Amino acid sequence: SVGLMKGKRGLIMGVANNRSIAYGIAKALADQGAELAFTYQGDALRKRVEPLAAELNAFVCGHCDVGDAATIDACFQALEEKWGKIDFLVHAIGFSDKDELTGRYVDTSEANFSKTMLISVYSFTAVAQRAEKLMTSGGSMLTLTYYGAEKVMPNYNVMGVAKAALEASVKYLAVDLGPKNIRVNAISAGPIKTLAASGIGDFRYILKWNEYNAPLRRTVTIEEVGDVGLYLLSDLSRSVTGEVHHADSGYHVVGMKAVDAPDI
Ligand code: NAD
Repeated sequence: SVGLMKGKRGLIMGVANNRSIAYGIAKALADQGAELAFTYQGDALRKRVEPLAAELNAFVCGHCDVGDAATIDACFQALEEKWGKIDFLVHAIGFSDKDELTGRYVDTSEANFSKTMLISVYSFTAVAQRAEKLMTSGGSMLTLTYYGAEKVMPNYNVMGVAKAALEASVKYLAVDLGPKNIRVNAISAGPIKTLAASGIGDFRYILKWNEYNAPLRRTVTIEEVGDVGLYLLSDLSRSVTGEVHHADSGYHVVGMKAVDAPDI
């Protein structure tokens, strides 16, 4: 440990359990000396998140449902009272009704389209608005996206459309906040078996397909995504903003099934 994050403080949103990508990022940051704050979504996750916060010495801001602006404000208020300023923000939040993460995209309902966009896209902008005010000496913001934004992936459906909008918002936010030395980037992570991923139809097949066809012939772990997060949130990436960085064992460069891939 070389202390890349020594003296830096930030908020991590999206820890549900110890398999969450947000937890992998939190651990990589804590190992390098960052001071962390967590939010949790509702009482059911509170009892999962509190022990993980204790393990990493993280401050718990409280309940935050990004669909409810008052709870976002309450968490940022708690953060402002605790630290006054922050240096980084991790947004690892997404939601869509699992009934629409299967079958055809064309059958998406208006209600779930709106909900998916609110929770998975607008929420990043909503928290960026609050975080900007606390990043008084610059900062780094990070969100999580997926290849389904770029190419059609089976069952990803409305979530793919939402991730495309999220990636576009990363670029707009990077331009708006750049003059304040606030950087905004995304990690496009390869598939990982998490709570959120279990809502996607045939997810095991997608994992196997990636393992057999990615250049590195393996799927990625939350520790690996955590290390990429560490790079994007530390000063190592101080010249990087508006970027969507793939952490996917190279899958996004592949155009065809690998010659040695078994049938699945
Ligand atoms: P996860 O289930 O561990 O995390 C998802 C988080 O979103 C949970 O903590 C949940 O509480 C939170 N969330 C959902 N609705 C919310 C709301 N209304 N308010 C506040 N929080 C809410 O799963 P994960 O895979 O770690 O997901 C984190 C991010 O990574 C998501 O944006 C997901 O789309 C993205 N991602 C996941 C994969 C994958 O294969 N797992 C790949 C690429 C990108």
